[in-house]
Amino acid sequence: MASRISRRMWMKSSAALTAAAAAGPMAVAQGPKNIVIASSNGKEACRKAMEMIKAGEDTLDAVVAGVQTVELDPTQHGVGYAGLPNEDGVVELDASVMHGPSRRCGSVAGVRMVKTPARLAKLVMTETDHVMMVGQGADQFAKDMGFKLEELLTDESRLAWLVWKKSVRDKKGHTNWSSEVETGNATAELKELFPNVDEKTLAWAREMAIHPITGTINCLALNSKGEMSGVTTTSGLAWKIAGRIGDSPIIGAGLYVDQDVGGAGSTGRGEENIRIAGAHTIVENMRHGMTPQEASLDALKRISRNFKDDKARLAQFDINFYALRKDGLYAGTTLWTYESGAQKYNPVFTVNDGGESRHEKCVPLYERRA
Ligand code: ASP
Repeated sequence: MASRISRRMWMKSSAALTAAAAAGPMAVAQGPKNIVIASSNGKEACRKAMEMIKAGEDTLDAVVAGVQTVELDPTQHGVGYAGLPNEDGVVELDASVMHGPSRRCGSVAGVRMVKTPARLAKLVMTETDHVMMVGQGADQFAKDMGFKLEELLTDESRLAWLVWKKSVRDKKGHTNWSSEVETGNATAELKELFPNVDEKTLAWAREMAIHPITGTINCLALNSKGEMSGVTTTSGLAWKIAGRIGDSPIIGAGLYVDQDVGGAGSTGRGEENIRIAGAHTIVENMRHGMTPQEASLDALKRISRNFKDDKARLAQFDINFYALRKDGLYAGTTLWTYESGAQKYNPVFTVNDGGESRHEKCVPLYERRA
């Protein structure tokens, strides 16, 4: 059924557009143009994707090559190779792609031996008539497609996992992973447990064990012909139960692109995003006249509603949405501003509209109060 925008909705949306345009460059729509947006860790990905788009390459090829720079980076522990593992110490990767012009998509989940799952998801799209492949079958498919099957756990990620293992204690404070005399997990004690590891690396591993990073990358692109594509790739939540799949490979949750409307994607706690089919919700909101910012804040409000707007429970997690409309209007939004000590920070996202990749502030639904 064709969608129609009510007059009220249109007026609301036009008013929001005017207000947003006044607010700054983030909100100015100028019609189809080369533009790539991504999560905060996507500066290099956006640079690479923009370079390819300018050279006339397909938008999906561009974003997949873009995120591949992050997937292969051993210092990025939330995506691809060197991702933090599951509770058994095994890295499991998820990714999805969506190609606007052909209206096709592909995804993989629980991949254990492929450094670049986004490229594998694209091959599910182009080389099969399936959409989603998981686990052993996905690794086997990768092998059949000529990928090298490799160990994804690096020494650093293994160390963070071991520190986490040794930190998990029962109610009596006991852990099977260190001797009874160990009472905590302060860096000094860890030094005794890992005498050959330098202090800086141990402090990092301890931080990862206590506050594992969320490093998923979502990347959305539009070119001057109006063609759009998107990709989301991740190692998922660190220390997850083996086999847990988040939102990133779920078409409609971690990623959605509709060539007629725009695209959206997410990073952060996938379980909450799946419950509201976030990316699809945002694209539908835009189809019905909302700006990317309004559409994404509405999705965040649905998450909040699932917790009866209980801020104490909502404060337990973070989630971000990124949205790019077909006319070039875009937004990054977040559930929370975050705090570190006395400092409050505003999460950022990445934009590249032809020059250098830059960070812009995400619009928060809620401000954390100290
Ligand atoms: N969304 C990812 C997941 O739930 C995690 C993340 O973004 O860090 O698997």
